[in-house]
Amino acid sequence: DYRAASYLKSSPTLALCPPDQGLEVAFAGRSNAGKSSALNALTESSKLARTSKTPGRTQMINFFELDQYRRLVDLPGYGYAKVPEAMKIEWQKHLDEYLSGRQSLCGIVLLMDIRHPLKEFDLTLLNWAHSCQLPAHILLTKADKLKYGAAQKALMEVRKHCKAMPAVSVQCFSAPKGTGIPELTRQLNQWFSA
Ligand code: GDP
Repeated sequence: DYRAASYLKSSPTLALCPPDQGLEVAFAGRSNAGKSSALNALTESSKLARTSKTPGRTQMINFFELDQYRRLVDLPGYGYAKVPEAMKIEWQKHLDEYLSGRQSLCGIVLLMDIRHPLKEFDLTLLNWAHSCQLPAHILLTKADKLKYGAAQKALMEVRKHCKAMPAVSVQCFSAPKGTGIPELTRQLNQWFSA
């Protein structure tokens, strides 16, 4: 039950993360992709992950505890245009460090705005997950912004792009409408029960 999620801690670096035990699923995406909204919709909490963050300040890796052994992780959003280059490099360093060093990481949820999928860093992250055999589940967010037919077309295109990556799955998602929450829940259950 993802409503049982509670805030555990925030960490700027891997060294300060909670002990690397049990299982963790990380949520990643470009800034503004809808990551906080998705986490809030999933956990039915409006405060768990803040939806409006100040770009430019140092971003943390945020941990939410489901129970003693399972955690959801909110990774820093990437690609915010107005952030200075040095800070982008710093974020990416922390992201790389977490993604490559974390034993308890059992899956990654990659959020992409359904109107702008598969941007450069999304592809980097997908290829990285594929190369280290980490399963990835893509949420095409803000699906309510497109008509049904256009949303299905976008879904098919992203699925086609990922066809060669068997551990990647794709679905539509809308935080305000709640579309896709059961599907996301099934995927998380599967990873957490492995
Ligand atoms: P984050 O930076 O990835 O955490 O993105 P946020 O969750 O803060 O969302 C960025 C903006 O997109 C906010 O204005 C949200 O209200 C909006 N948003 C997020 N998800 C959805 C969605 O599913 N549908 C619509 N219409 N707007 C959304």
